Amino acid sequence: MLVVKALQKSYGQGQGAVLDRASFHLPRGAFAALVGPSGSGKSTLLNLVGLLDGADSGEIVIDGMRVSSLSPTEAAWLRNRLIGFVFQSFHLLSRLTAWENAALPLFHRGVGRDERKSRALAMLDRVGLSDRACHRPEQLSGGQRQRVAIARALVGEPRLILADEPTGNLDRATGLQVMDLLRELNRDLGVTILMVTHDRDMARFCDRAIEMRDGRVQPLVEVG
Ligand code: ADP
Repeated sequence: MLVVKALQKSYGQGQGAVLDRASFHLPRGAFAALVGPSGSGKSTLLNLVGLLDGADSGEIVIDGMRVSSLSPTEAAWLRNRLIGFVFQSFHLLSRLTAWENAALPLFHRGVGRDERKSRALAMLDRVGLSDRACHRPEQLSGGQRQRVAIARALVGEPRLILADEPTGNLDRATGLQVMDLLRELNRDLGVTILMVTHDRDMARFCDRAIEMRDGRVQPLVEVG
């Protein structure tokens, strides 16, 4: 479902390779933790797979589509359709309500308001937040904000969810609840998830770990 082949990336001339022939693949429906020491290239890899930045060489294939070497416009179009993002600090828009935030990917696709609202409300219901649909982020707890962000990541029915330390700003109990939710959505909806985490306890929710060291991917480990 996701194939990453020999990705090479450095951030400037004379700088060493941040990614050094990084390669791995994920089958459809996998829930993978991307782990490794700080500075090993995890965020860089996530940015490339998320079509937010370009590699120097190598290949990325999502759902049979070769998505490396696209123009910025093509990358934005595909990103909106193929990928949902969940961030450590939620990245919700403060002036929008929960449902309006959850509906944003559909807004960018030009979907009309009624359909946007009904699909966003259905997704908020799915993450257990139907009673908070008209609240703004400041009226929500950290765990609730991350649920809105997860609803936003899923509302457009993407093939792949990329999560960057999704529990990093949450207390332990809330973090575990968010992981439970992600695992449930992974199982029920069959969406493939790639999640950067430093936290071994959170990585245990995943079915495999991709371990990075010095820009290289270590052999794949199945953990569950
Ligand atoms: P991780 O997410 O595993 O902590 P990163 O991908 O953030 O690793 O960083 C890998 C290396 O690339 C680090 O040495 C970091 O300093 C460097 N790096 C990351 N982003 C940039 C950038 N925009 N410009 C220059 N160097 C960068």
